[in-house]
Amino acid sequence: MAGCWARDGAVNEQIEASISDELARMKARRAPTGDSLTHCAECEEPIPEARREALPGVKLCIDCMQERDGRFEVRGGINRRGSKDSQLR
Ligand SMILES: [Zn+2]
Repeated sequence: MAGCWARDGAVNEQIEASISDELARMKARRAPTGDSLTHCAECEEPIPEARREALPGVKLCIDCMQERDGRFEVRGGINRRGSKDSQLR
């Protein structure tokens, strides 16, 4: 799996890259589920627990995060709810 990037060994390399990111990690250590939302802030779809653990403080579902990052084109006209289910299950 590729979900181990948040382990302590990798954190040190992240400190210089982004102070705000480090602050978020410190906060997450005190309260692992502190700022994570159970439902997406954009579309209110449920966010899987595994995703919330991997991304402490996560506020967007996979679809909304991908659209924000610009990795995927917005799929207007396609049933996003259906495609999302195929990703999560
Ligand atoms: Zn969403």
